[in-house]
Amino acid sequence: MRAIIIGVGQCGTKIADIFSLVDFEALAINTSRGDLEYLKHIPQDRRILIGESIVGGKGVNANPVLGREAMKRDLPMVMRKIRSLVGYEDVDIFFLTFGFGGGTGAGGTPVLAEALKEEYPDSLVVAIGALPLKEEGIRPTINAAITIDKLSKIVDSIIAIDNNKLKESGEDISQAYERINYAIVERIASLLALIDVPGEQTLDASDLKFVLRAMGSFATVGYAKADASKVKSLSRLIVRSFENEGLYLDVNIESALYGLVAIHGPPEALKANEIFEALNELTERIRGKQIFRGFYPDPREREVEVVTLLSGIYESKSIEEIVVTAKRYAQEFMKAKEEGEIKKRQLLSGLPDFDDIYP
Ligand code: GDP
Repeated sequence: MRAIIIGVGQCGTKIADIFSLVDFEALAINTSRGDLEYLKHIPQDRRILIGESIVGGKGVNANPVLGREAMKRDLPMVMRKIRSLVGYEDVDIFFLTFGFGGGTGAGGTPVLAEALKEEYPDSLVVAIGALPLKEEGIRPTINAAITIDKLSKIVDSIIAIDNNKLKESGEDISQAYERINYAIVERIASLLALIDVPGEQTLDASDLKFVLRAMGSFATVGYAKADASKVKSLSRLIVRSFENEGLYLDVNIESALYGLVAIHGPPEALKANEIFEALNELTERIRGKQIFRGFYPDPREREVEVVTLLSGIYESKSIEEIVVTAKRYAQEFMKAKEEGEIKKRQLLSGLPDFDDIYP
């Protein structure tokens, strides 16, 4: 399976850079020359500066309108570069990584996603975006709401990662981001590594693509791991990976259409009856009633690892909070503006024509 990772903006390119470190084909796009230079692993010819004519390589200062404009203006150049680096053949999925709360990623990713969908109609375009921390304030929340709305009409799935859920209390922000970025890559990379592995009951690219082709709804990855000798109930471990503690986004699991689960571990630990018990329970719980599964017995393993993907999610507290907060803010802002206008008009009404006073 061929997956291409394209990072947009600072957060997105940092995540793409880690994908490049673990040997994925990755590209970086940014309006900030400094941030592009800061990357460690993506080769120079795969770093694309956009919006130079607007912001001169200095970034868009978390303004998604500028981010969108920068991507639009340079889209022919960006697509030419992507075509020459990637070609047309065999791209199963484009994963676009970005931060929902900024400017370049939030504004530019929907523009790029639309162009990719047009140029590569047989490939999936999946957004992987980090949701802003609550403490960042209202602007990132608004940027995120706008971008959620736009992307949901374009991409196949939105894998949203809730920074609030993953940041540990008291942790320094930049350390938290770095840890979260590695966790995201590890999770997605371990899922992709299990696709098309030869074996009797393994997952193939068409399973993954089926699950991710979900009309712009949300998806999230889950995870659970334990020492094989300490697993008391394998079915409990599998269920845990699907529950909120194992997921990167607060979601209502029941609202999901599809699930995918890959179980990896020593053969004696992968007990079929326990696996089927868990999978039957989960299949019943999700609305779409379809769970794809792959089993990966590995005699060298000492740990049991469960990697999951839930998709076609329509109910998420993380997303709802962002959209509702942004909407409420917009309404209050418009109300304040209208009331201010009325007050201003009242104050200025009846003012005489001073031309008579200054002849
Ligand atoms: P852009 O360069 O204008 O696209 O903006 P950024 O990518 O710097 O930031 C956008 C948002 O992404 C911020 O509001 C943060 O919530 C989040 N963010 C920034 N950097 C990181 C990062 O390295 N990891 C994660 N998980 N989130 C980040």
